[in-house]
Amino acid sequence: MTERHILGLSGGKDSTALALFMRDKVPDMEYVFCDTGSELDETINYLNQVEAYLGKKIIRLNPNATFDHWLEVFNGYLPAPNMRWCTKLLKLRPFEEYVGGGNVVSYVGIRADEDRVGYISTKPNIKAVFPFKEHGIDYDGVMKILIDSGIGLPPYLNWGRSHSGCYFCFFQKPIEWVLLLENYPRLFDKAQSYEKIRHEPGKTFTWIQNMPLSELRKPENIERIKEKHKEIIARHKQSRPNKKLVEVFAGLEIDDSEPKSCLICQL
Ligand code: SF4
Repeated sequence: MTERHILGLSGGKDSTALALFMRDKVPDMEYVFCDTGSELDETINYLNQVEAYLGKKIIRLNPNATFDHWLEVFNGYLPAPNMRWCTKLLKLRPFEEYVGGGNVVSYVGIRADEDRVGYISTKPNIKAVFPFKEHGIDYDGVMKILIDSGIGLPPYLNWGRSHSGCYFCFFQKPIEWVLLLENYPRLFDKAQSYEKIRHEPGKTFTWIQNMPLSELRKPENIERIKEKHKEIIARHKQSRPNKKLVEVFAGLEIDDSEPKSCLICQL
């Protein structure tokens, strides 16, 4: 049986660079994107540009039910780092259904300078490969691929969001929520409308623990979050003086105490 080659794009810089890198190496590559329906329009537009560059359709995989449907199933329990039902139902499941039962090589955009682990299916028919690791392509190599192609960085990096994925993603740092409010106020309102604050124990659901978005958006809190972020950026720039601000954002791992992002959504 022939082996299929599949590369999952997230709208993030590393998976995009990998798609560009592999374009002429594996002509029968299938490019896929698991669309949760909650991505920023600018991410979708960026993927459209990538699609034009690749000269090949990026197959959009849609889950068979929406985030709102699953939220109802979970009784309003918002997903969280320790309860990632969204990743499983809106990303992994559509991908595995698309892959099916045949043999597949899955191309993963983890860079040579990274030590993290991306989505590696436990399904025996899926073999994950890491071309950036094999070819020694690190952060600077990824930037070069993106810039040389003319595709450039994902647009959200320009206004300070560090990752692709759902606009309400709980992996966002407080400063990213502030930036979402400033850049996409209606999406912030929509994210806020998913929160439920009740007096009964175990019935309050917020995206950030102990900080409902109704609180976060207050001017005094916004100011505090911005101040703290400025301090973090200044510290980070001091330790990496040759990095431009956009690179600081793009490689954002500036506060290790914060939760790690979801790789299948944001690589
Ligand atoms: S981007 Fe965030 S909210 Fe969306 S599916 Fe991934 S982990 Fe869940």
